[in-house]
Amino acid sequence: MKKHLQVEAIQSGTVIDHISAGQGIKILKFFDLSSESQRITVGLNLPSHDGANKDLIKIEGLTFNKEQGNQLALFAPKATINVIENFEVVNKFKVELPQQIAGVFSCPNSNCISHNEPVDSRFNLTTRAHRTKLKCHYCEKAFDKGLFTELD
Ligand SMILES: [Zn+2]
Repeated sequence: MKKHLQVEAIQSGTVIDHISAGQGIKILKFFDLSSESQRITVGLNLPSHDGANKDLIKIEGLTFNKEQGNQLALFAPKATINVIENFEVVNKFKVELPQQIAGVFSCPNSNCISHNEPVDSRFNLTTRAHRTKLKCHYCEKAFDKGLFTELD
């Protein structure tokens, strides 16, 4: 077991690794990470051992659990979450598409009641024939995931 991290070590926090190049900025923006008080380091277009470039995000002082990590799966289906304590990886897992995403995206349906009520947006995820759709809990309309992840 190699304990040494390839990335510059942080004392405690979370390293999100193996984000497809180009998605790192979107993750920061969508999950509002940059507005938190945590110290964040972002690596863009880093070489990855599978040949494709990757992005990487390090967040000091914030520990992701499985549920939080899975919220990233729409943007970075291959991401690996490394939880760091005292400069050592104490937990490591791959993200999986969650069944539900709440409080991240607003509903693309402008007539949706969620825009007028003080509620968190909520979408149920379904995948059929490798296409992932998000169905709004409030208006029950289903949207292609690209509608969310391709937004600028
Ligand atoms: Zn809706």
